[in-house]
Amino acid sequence: MITAQARSLALGLLLLAAVPGTLDSSTASRPSRIYFLGSDYVNLQEWARSHGFQARWTVWKEQVKITSAYSTLLFDIDSRRAVVNGVSVWLSTAIAFRNGAAYISPRDLTTAINPVLFPVREPAGKTIKTICLDPGHGGKDPGNREGKHQEKRYALLLAEETKAALTKAGFKVIMTRTGDTYPELEERPQWAKKRGADLFLSLHFNSADSSAAKSVQGIETYCMTPARASSTNTRGGTDDAAPGNRLDSKNMLLAYHLQRSMLGKLGAEDRGVRRARFAVLRYAEMPAVLVEAGFMTHPTESQKIYSSSYRRQLAQAITAGILAYKQAIEAKP
Ligand SMILES: [Zn+2]
Repeated sequence: MITAQARSLALGLLLLAAVPGTLDSSTASRPSRIYFLGSDYVNLQEWARSHGFQARWTVWKEQVKITSAYSTLLFDIDSRRAVVNGVSVWLSTAIAFRNGAAYISPRDLTTAINPVLFPVREPAGKTIKTICLDPGHGGKDPGNREGKHQEKRYALLLAEETKAALTKAGFKVIMTRTGDTYPELEERPQWAKKRGADLFLSLHFNSADSSAAKSVQGIETYCMTPARASSTNTRGGTDDAAPGNRLDSKNMLLAYHLQRSMLGKLGAEDRGVRRARFAVLRYAEMPAVLVEAGFMTHPTESQKIYSSSYRRQLAQAITAGILAYKQAIEAKP
């Protein structure tokens, strides 16, 4: 066993030798890979330098900080939580420490980090016009229940508010339900596809176990778990590839922009961009996310959820997040 202190020192020395400032990516070598515990890993600092980033190791935090003129990323040893420009992004595999260096899963680079840092733009003329909003639950399925408050009602109210804000911003908006009905889960994204939706957003409110109800609050944005990767939330399906996996990169970029916008505008607690194989994400054939916009079980956050002014702010933050995604992904004029 290596003590935390010893490995901090080893990594610190390694990084001291390896931080000559920003390297030209054309001269930087490919990051080294290792294989252990049944998985492939990429040397995180070498990867950073090969992309022109600086990488620093903070000994007392056991944390790698990667920076460029545009981005700041934080990675903690033994943790699946990375912080990308102030937004928590849950990785499928924890950052590992081996041979005096920090390592990341290549799958996390391709499906979680690269899509945000290096978004691939759409071809010219392909624009985002139609947004499908999916108010969670409905009809026979009330969703979370706290006293007289039912999640299905607040999900619909948030969707109506978001429809108004998106329409004002120039989008066409369609909804999987406009009343207290229950469209089957897999039919919701399929219907969105038939109607030509460019993006799919499922809107929900969260709940925590009674033991954690007073402490757990904040916003989560889910996107489809990449094939064979592990989810942040294990509900919802096997790890085989699904239709929703064809758009892993765009799903992540959309989730990141929505989460970032909601945190910035609402000051809510950041529970991160997460992964799950929820049915509405599994069957989506357009970029899709599921937003858990706060906890109905939390004493103060629930009161915000039940207020129309807070839901209006949420709707505006969601709209700003979609506009940020649109700006990141559409071809430059
Ligand atoms: Zn729900």
